[in-house]
Amino acid sequence: MRILVVEDSKVVSRILQHLIAQELGCDVDFAEDLASAKQLLEQKEYFVAITDLNLPDANEGEIVKLVLSKQTPCIVLTGSLDAQQRKRLLQLGIVDYILKENRFSYEYVVRLVDRLQRNQTVKVLVADDSVVSRKFVRSLLEQHLYQVVEADDGNSAWEVLQNQPDIQLLITDYNMPGLDGFGLILKVREKFSREELAIIGLSSDDDESLSARFIKNGANDFLQKPFVHEEFHCRVLNTLDSLDMIRKLWDQANLDYLTGVYNRRYFFSQYEELIILKKQKRGALTLALLDIDLFKGVNDTYGHDVGDEVLVEFAARLKRSFGQHFTVSRFGGEEFIVAFRGLNEVKSFALMDKFRSQLESKPISTSRGELSVTVSAGIASLSDDESEESLDTLIQRADKALYDAKEAGRNLVCIESDHE
Ligand code: GH3
Ligand code: MG
Ligand code: MG
Repeated sequence: MRILVVEDSKVVSRILQHLIAQELGCDVDFAEDLASAKQLLEQKEYFVAITDLNLPDANEGEIVKLVLSKQTPCIVLTGSLDAQQRKRLLQLGIVDYILKENRFSYEYVVRLVDRLQRNQTVKVLVADDSVVSRKFVRSLLEQHLYQVVEADDGNSAWEVLQNQPDIQLLITDYNMPGLDGFGLILKVREKFSREELAIIGLSSDDDESLSARFIKNGANDFLQKPFVHEEFHCRVLNTLDSLDMIRKLWDQANLDYLTGVYNRRYFFSQYEELIILKKQKRGALTLALLDIDLFKGVNDTYGHDVGDEVLVEFAARLKRSFGQHFTVSRFGGEEFIVAFRGLNEVKSFALMDKFRSQLESKPISTSRGELSVTVSAGIASLSDDESEESLDTLIQRADKALYDAKEAGRNLVCIESDHE
């Protein structure tokens, strides 16, 4: 990613250079006037340009038109801006304008660039029966590089959401033929939580009760029409920022910090409840408890950091082998657990033994070279009779089988034998 800064003040350039290097770590080119900016824009492609309006050889904001003519997003950073200039710039289609007021202005610019970069992977669905309104919202979103999908009524929006589960934000109008905005939100919320899909409702001026009703029906926020450029972007940004924050919190609570697979807490939260369900409802469940063989030796010989590298790669392989259909979690230390929901112990054994033999035959590359690593595993299935088995007793049985595997010489998968 490469950024162009067009700025004749050395002080401002230096601040930006410092912040961009620190926060974004990407390449930056600097131009002090329109002529050199033009040259650079002809030579290279830029992800975004941050430009002053008053340059020594062009003090009427000519730079903005030049940047936009190259299809490059433009952020204006200026000392002053009157109402008329603001309007003209927004009409031209700049990303945003920022006044050079204090250091927060520069931090804002850098955060905006970071956001733009991430927006490229954020998919937004715009549901509105008015073509004009839909296109307007689309153009605003595209200025900030979001991926935009459109739907012209509630029902088709619902269909799009079914087919494209990677949509993160729905912006919906209220009044639409067939299924209206509220109906759509109610339907959506049955399937997607607020953390999975954010919703912003659009409500028009003439019914002031709509906005609150949007929120009560499950929208994250609303926007009163007609809205201005800045207001729209602030709402969208805030909504997506809180979505990011919630997801980060969720990850911190449920994923292992080192390997990124689920942690013990998540495993228990998922399977403790499952086990309480009546047998015919929960179906088969087999647990495989894995423990890397002689792992202490890896740490002792190569150091703890290399041990960590092994854990990371081991977990990645587990996840690649089983993560798509089953729950893989780190149980602690060099122990992992795979929950084979829907599989009996024979099938689970076959899968786990295949994993064991693949691990044995493919050494793990670390910063200290390739290391051969083996694993032992114990397998136990939820018993047939409906005696009150808890998750703990099931794990204990898997642990017993794991112990047998270690006793028998390691690099083995054992099935728990004596059902009591
Ligand atoms: P066995 O085949 O009987 O399982 O032998 P082992 O050496 O793997 O078993 P032991 O339980 O004696 O040692 C486990 C080691 O795992 C000891 C501990 O320092 C190491 N360990 C636990 N968590 C981590 C971690 O997060 N990073 C690293 N590098 N090592 C860890
Ligand atoms: Mg151990
Ligand atoms: Mg071990």
